[in-house]
Amino acid sequence: MSEPVTYETRGPVAVIKMDKPPVNSLGAALRTGIADAVERAQADAAVKAIVLTGTARAFSAGADVTEFGTPNAAREPNLRVLIDYVERTEKPVIAAIAGQCLGGGFELAMGCHYRVALADAQLGLPEVKIGLLPGATGTQRLPRLIGLEAALNMCVGGSPVAAEKFAGTPLLDKLITGDLVDGAVAFAAEVADKPIRRVRDLKVRDPQGEAFLQFARNTVGAMAGPYPAPLKCLEAVANSLTKSFDDGCKLEREGFMALMQSPESRALRHIFGAERAATKIPGLPENTPLREIKKVGVIGAGTMGGGITMNFLNAGIPVVLLEMKQEALDRGLKTIRTNYENSAKKGKLKPEQVEQRMGLVTPTLSYDGMKDVDLVIEAVFENMDVKETVFRTLDEVCKPGAILASNTSYLNIDKIATFTKRPGDVIGLHFFSPANVMRLLEIVRGAQTAPDVLATSLALGKKIKKVAVISGVCDGFIGNRMLARYGAAAQGLINAGALPQQIDGALQKFGMAMGPFRMGDLAGLDIGWATRKRKAAEAGVELKPIVADKLCEAGRFGQKTGAGWYRYEAGKRDPIPDALTEQLITEYRAANGITPRTISDAEVVERCIFALVNEGARILEEGIAARASDIDLVYLNGYGFPAHRGGPMLYADMVGLPNVVRALRKFAAEPGADKSWQPAPLLLKLAAEGKNFN
Ligand code: NAD
Repeated sequence: MSEPVTYETRGPVAVIKMDKPPVNSLGAALRTGIADAVERAQADAAVKAIVLTGTARAFSAGADVTEFGTPNAAREPNLRVLIDYVERTEKPVIAAIAGQCLGGGFELAMGCHYRVALADAQLGLPEVKIGLLPGATGTQRLPRLIGLEAALNMCVGGSPVAAEKFAGTPLLDKLITGDLVDGAVAFAAEVADKPIRRVRDLKVRDPQGEAFLQFARNTVGAMAGPYPAPLKCLEAVANSLTKSFDDGCKLEREGFMALMQSPESRALRHIFGAERAATKIPGLPENTPLREIKKVGVIGAGTMGGGITMNFLNAGIPVVLLEMKQEALDRGLKTIRTNYENSAKKGKLKPEQVEQRMGLVTPTLSYDGMKDVDLVIEAVFENMDVKETVFRTLDEVCKPGAILASNTSYLNIDKIATFTKRPGDVIGLHFFSPANVMRLLEIVRGAQTAPDVLATSLALGKKIKKVAVISGVCDGFIGNRMLARYGAAAQGLINAGALPQQIDGALQKFGMAMGPFRMGDLAGLDIGWATRKRKAAEAGVELKPIVADKLCEAGRFGQKTGAGWYRYEAGKRDPIPDALTEQLITEYRAANGITPRTISDAEVVERCIFALVNEGARILEEGIAARASDIDLVYLNGYGFPAHRGGPMLYADMVGLPNVVRALRKFAAEPGADKSWQPAPLLLKLAAEGKNFN
């Protein structure tokens, strides 16, 4: 393995270069390397000043998060010890910064005596984004360098700022144009004989002090939602005004440790790791060659086809959009244009960008347009016969090597692949509504999907800024399969005694973006009704209507018909509880001999969320999902699961799997209980072994 640190001297200046790909994360080996190199420079009488630098990509992007909670994290020198050592060095240390300089990397730079940087270097303290505060003296150093208010904004906001914005502050001694290290060495020679200036000895100057802090507390408190970190960041920075440097650092450390134990930070760190893990596919080598996607075809310009098209236009990839009839095509194009124009009205797009993007769509009624596309995504009606016609035609017209994808919500991708003579090129690319907004992309891997088709789809997902998760083939894939259990649990609660508004309220209080009945009204109740009718017909039985079917029979499909579970006033989206819904529910209970009982909000949450967890466990043991964190990503990015709970599987880990098992057993033992309440074997096994999903 190559050394993470290199050392050279240029005249009287020692140059220490951090070189640990990809971004110089400050793991134990790098920390030791830096400390050893500084010691060497310190001991060499010919060295008068020290330049500490990184690569063009990163000075350092911060602590090594994979080290958190492992013995390496504690290995000396830890980051605070290293920064303290650098600061106490008797020869001036100059941080020479290019690329990312974030978190612990930024704290290390602030421990140096001087900082020089390229104009576009990115400086920031993003710890708040994983529910933490900067724990290596950053909250005490930054206000000493740029003042209280600016430091607070960076700490609480977490977003990086370009180095050039700090010109003229003690944070940045010189902007370098040209070669960074040459410039830094020249600067080092200038300051070599000057007395050492240490950040810890500076005073925080802030004329507004307390008054500003009170205002900031109110603002940050109102915006922090369920997260404790923003206010803790604020208090840590505030200490720099009233406490000594050392006391401020001690309190910062305590705050950091407390946040590290918080469930919210655990959830956010889990999500951070989950997004990285999801890009690694078991059995798929990282160097799998990719197919080039320069032009995309979309079949169907309805709700999904239009949104899917926008993803590619936004990424500068031309799209051929096909419909059956001119009116449908015109309608689809108009919706896309209206969406862009609305973004332009909000100032998110320039008017010329609207035209640029619209200029990338080629509308067509003919499959001739599909001859030269590299990828086609089918988004026609959810009906196997219609999909069959489309895929047979695509197989005839598309060039060899084109990827043939379906956006189906439930249908079997392996079956769809049989409609072509190239099943290796067939894959599911399942977008979520609205497809131009929702971050999730479920990539459905068929039994015969070729490795490079899978790898290309993953890379494409990244290009169009989606969180891509791989799913195996099953009814509804990861997300909708779990949603079915969640919906059934909610339905069971209605039957037993709850009302839609109570269930939605309880789950929204838990943190779900929208309760299941509001969500149903938004998506349209007719879709589920059609599915249930189809499944009953396929099974050769008569559909036994549930309350949702009764609503549909009454013409209540949700928001689009002005009423569903709730009623809606014209032009408004606020759900209003409705007596007719309550009457249908009462009738249903009476017809089925159910005496309603009182149901607590806690029971609503337990049943609905544990139903998700139990189905997630089955999905995991069947190998439909490669890892529990993939399931969490699906729910977080496609179904409005609250980020501060980390996804259903992490939530189960935090509740304790034995507790989940106990609750499921209780539900399963109730008279007439559905067999899906039986705890999944994997869940039982993990709980018995004292293990977690994650
Ligand atoms: P939609 O009814 O809004 O749009 C379907 C469009 O396809 C219509 O404009 C129709 O004219 C067109 N079409 C039908 N047959 C065609 C054919 N043979 N050739 C060309 N165009 C044809 O439906 P949607 O909601 O956009 O759903 C499309 C697909 O996406 C379905 O498979 C659905 O399950 C899936 N999906 C839907 C959602 C959702 O929330 N709506 C989410 C994910 C996936």
